[in-house]
Amino acid sequence: MIIFVWFNAFSFMYNLILFGPPGSGKGTQSANITRKYQLHHISTGDLLREEVGKKSPLGLEAQQYMDAGQLVPDAVVIGMISGKIDENPNARGFIFDGFPRTQGQAVALDAMLKAKHTEIHQVLAMEVPEEELVKRLLHRGATSGRSDDNEEVIAKRIKEYYAKTEAVAAHYDALGKLERIKGIGSIEDIFNTLGKSIEKYIQPA
Ligand code: AMP
Repeated sequence: MIIFVWFNAFSFMYNLILFGPPGSGKGTQSANITRKYQLHHISTGDLLREEVGKKSPLGLEAQQYMDAGQLVPDAVVIGMISGKIDENPNARGFIFDGFPRTQGQAVALDAMLKAKHTEIHQVLAMEVPEEELVKRLLHRGATSGRSDDNEEVIAKRIKEYYAKTEAVAAHYDALGKLERIKGIGSIEDIFNTLGKSIEKYIQPA
């Protein structure tokens, strides 16, 4: 029992934030990373869409913001994340996708992980020019039927990203944890570049 507790407290858990504007390929690459490195994937966008689908009180509150291309309030998102981390205490690590999106969420996440004796090790920020983002999102809207992928909402989401979320990159840059990755090219090439950074910390599972 003592050995088990000791192992849990000191075994290495790797935590990554995959960062990038809407349409930067975060979803695809986080699925690739999750598979290869056996991390637990947490996407706040997916979790929120699940709640919207269930028409839960949280989902009903979140939907109005999502449909308008605005961020859901920090308190809603932070509560949701804390629950997900606690559900997976023996994870090899977590990959956060679409979170944190604001300075407040970043500060809350750092405190949450510190209380669990771990931290964010790396923030990999995928960078894609704005006209390419709009092109990709319009295509996704036409093929997936996502309600937030029309031209007006796309423009708002990209603007919101640059207005608020770049502050999160600056937060982790100041801690020496940010690496910028070129998000243009083949999915495979971008994945290889991301892997080179990740493997400074962990090897494929
Ligand atoms: P995504 O799938 O990550 O692009 O998220 C879709 C929408 O969900 C966003 O436009 C926001 O309205 C909402 N959302 C997702 N993650 C967050 C977050 N961390 N904070 C606030 N709102 C979020």
